[in-house]
Amino acid sequence: MSHYTTVGKTLEQTVARYPDREAIVYPRKDHRFTYAEFDERVDRLANAFADLGIERGDRVATVLHNGSEFVLTVYACAKLGAVITPLNFRLAAGDIEFIVSDAAAELVVFEAATREAVTAARPELESVEEYVYIDGEGPSYAREFDALLASGDAEHPSVDVSEDDAYAFIYTSGTTGRPKGVVHEHRDMVDHNLLCIAEMNVTRDDVGLSVMPLYHCAELHCSLFPRVQRGATTVILHEFDPAVALDAIEEYDVSFLFAAPTAWNGLSLTAADRDVDVSSLQLGLYGAAPMPEQVLENCREHLCEDYIQAYGMTEIGPAGVFQRPEDQLSKQGCAGLPALNHELRIVDPDADPDWEVAQGEIGEILIAGPCTMREYWNRPDATARSLREADGTTWYYTGDLGYRDADGYLYVVDRKDDMIVSGGENIYPAEVEDVLFSHAGVEAAAVVGEPDEEWGERVVAYVVGDGVTADELDAFALESDQLADFKRPREYTFVEELPTNPSGKVQKFKLRESDDAARDDAETEA
Ligand code: ATP
Ligand code: MG
Repeated sequence: MSHYTTVGKTLEQTVARYPDREAIVYPRKDHRFTYAEFDERVDRLANAFADLGIERGDRVATVLHNGSEFVLTVYACAKLGAVITPLNFRLAAGDIEFIVSDAAAELVVFEAATREAVTAARPELESVEEYVYIDGEGPSYAREFDALLASGDAEHPSVDVSEDDAYAFIYTSGTTGRPKGVVHEHRDMVDHNLLCIAEMNVTRDDVGLSVMPLYHCAELHCSLFPRVQRGATTVILHEFDPAVALDAIEEYDVSFLFAAPTAWNGLSLTAADRDVDVSSLQLGLYGAAPMPEQVLENCREHLCEDYIQAYGMTEIGPAGVFQRPEDQLSKQGCAGLPALNHELRIVDPDADPDWEVAQGEIGEILIAGPCTMREYWNRPDATARSLREADGTTWYYTGDLGYRDADGYLYVVDRKDDMIVSGGENIYPAEVEDVLFSHAGVEAAAVVGEPDEEWGERVVAYVVGDGVTADELDAFALESDQLADFKRPREYTFVEELPTNPSGKVQKFKLRESDDAARDDAETEA
């Protein structure tokens, strides 16, 4: 049998090399574990889970904020061959019900902050046999995490986990519809770790700060996992707070941090008027969107010089494209070049069979790489639409639109399903939103296409504003000189807030649905 590595083995290999290096620091509970100490706890928890009846292939759901308990649970499942299913801690009972039931999880690990939602969901969670509670004594139906951990044997669990086993079901963010369970295998993660280590020069002397939620694969797979495989240290903060994060950078000599652009903005503004030494910080990672120029400048002035952007999605690992530090200033708004071992194609989404569009033209972004998911759990139709073979390669159809410049750099334009076609012209809502957003009275804006008898679709803007009117915005859009006439919204609807998923992304399908419902009502009335 040839050699292979699993997520559990990445930890054991690090223990063999660096048992005494610091693995996890979790200030909220005064936890500081070396790799040997951390691994022993992982083994205890894995054996305790096995004593509860959890076996290879069983699903274990978590509804947890960041903490060492979450990380212990992830590695314990990996060693048992159980499939970790991390849920967003902000989900309401109905969403928990949907995901836990879809994954048919047998065990749910939760905490004080998620107790109410889990308890409310519980009557519907038929697959679940055990509950584990991490914040001391919990509800009567749950076991206490620390007691469970102490009860487990300290030997490595004797389970043969294969690199082809599912390591996790990671549910997508639910921006474009119901979350889908992405099935990742152990081998996907080992490949993903290696590419992150190489692309971001992770060394064993790195100290990373985990401030973004670990239930999301961006923080877990791009930040924590590569550091564990490399033998570096991770400081875990329970949740994001700019001032607390800056103090932690100073206290623990943090060298690396991943955050969303909005979080980087908060960090740089706070650092500007706080007396804090962040000189240890060497590299910042961001994703989900390009960094606005002003935010990048503030970050470079108050935090550190070098930033790297990742573009990708849950389905591919998530990182598939990186914009390197040296390209941040020269290629604004760009996502970068394919990650190591990855390939990109831009195809005409309307052509059948697909063909690649010319350089500079917009099409659907396809990505091929070693960390692509096996499938969407329980969703064969969605899997068949998203994973397709061509020339011996499996391509993931991202559903994002983009183009490549003359140097081959990728620019992400918008989501395919959000594109508006009006009078035969393609309109990308993100471009219109950017213009509206530059008006001082606009707090948030989302632009969608709504059916129009004459034009096919017309451009409608939903705006959260502070006293601003439709006429003012129309005049502003006209004067901005940045929007061709056919791109200008034909209708403005002012709303209290936009529908967002728990990560804050706007769910445009809900705006389109609300418009459909309003139209149906109007028709019924007529
Ligand atoms: P769902 O698939 O359930 O609708 P989601 O696509 O928002 O949710 P994620 O996998 O968390 O779930 O997000 C991936 C998406 O985020 C990408 O498809 C892309 O639209 C966007 N994205 C990620 N990184 C970047 C980036 N660097 N620049 C622009 N867009 C990005
Ligand atoms: Mg998606």
